[in-house]
Amino acid sequence: MKLELHNSAGIAAPGRLFDPERPWSREALRVRFGVLEHPELGVTLIDCGYGPRCYGAGAKQSFWLWLYTRIFRAELHPNGQVLSVLASKGWGPEDVQTVIVSHLHADHISELRSFTKARFIGSRRAVDALVASGWRGPLRHGSFAELLPDDYTARLSAVEDLPKLTLPLGLGRGHVLVEGALSIVPLEGHAVGHFGVYLHAERILYAVDAHWVLSALSSRLPLAGLPKRIASDVSAAETTLDRLRRFQQDGGTVIFCHEPEASCLDVS
Ligand SMILES: [Zn+2]
Repeated sequence: MKLELHNSAGIAAPGRLFDPERPWSREALRVRFGVLEHPELGVTLIDCGYGPRCYGAGAKQSFWLWLYTRIFRAELHPNGQVLSVLASKGWGPEDVQTVIVSHLHADHISELRSFTKARFIGSRRAVDALVASGWRGPLRHGSFAELLPDDYTARLSAVEDLPKLTLPLGLGRGHVLVEGALSIVPLEGHAVGHFGVYLHAERILYAVDAHWVLSALSSRLPLAGLPKRIASDVSAAETTLDRLRRFQQDGGTVIFCHEPEASCLDVS
């Protein structure tokens, strides 16, 4: 089992928007997703990045999703698209057996409807919050129910129902996905039910959107800019960042979805 991270798209955003210590010049944020093949989980994705359902020419989408894609402009990377990456390994979308859905923001679930045979591992609270947010949900939280497969909840295995464990390196309580190998790590604050994935052997936490850039872990400044504006719970997001700082100090490796610099698991 080797987790690969791929970069589905680039978002050119002024650095100051996501980190008060960065200049205003634009930086290319990545939009990563993960691929791994595991004997228990089968062909598995962690999220699926941005794709044509958000940024394709003539994509069928609601006014709110159209507006969102005009505000957050992304450039798709053809070779980093989830279906291209799967095809390069000889797999079609129907071969995907598991999709781990870290949270329901558009840049993580854009292409979820492609995976008609997969079981989803995600947060039930995240779905409940999306339903409860009504028409305000899309623009306030960047979550779009239209991107979810119609039978999403029927195929959902809720992380809340997985067995609990105490994680190493001060990560606190989590949920067992594959015993001794893969765990779900609740990382509250960015979005309701947001979680990361811990790789025990490598001591790597894919912390998804707990922040956008690794420099936030060394600065100790309060959450600011877009990461604060988007957060579902600012105080919880800052508590999560403190936990990640301790984890890093104790020898763990943190990887974020949008960090511009390459990570040790990046393939494309
Ligand atoms: Zn997010």
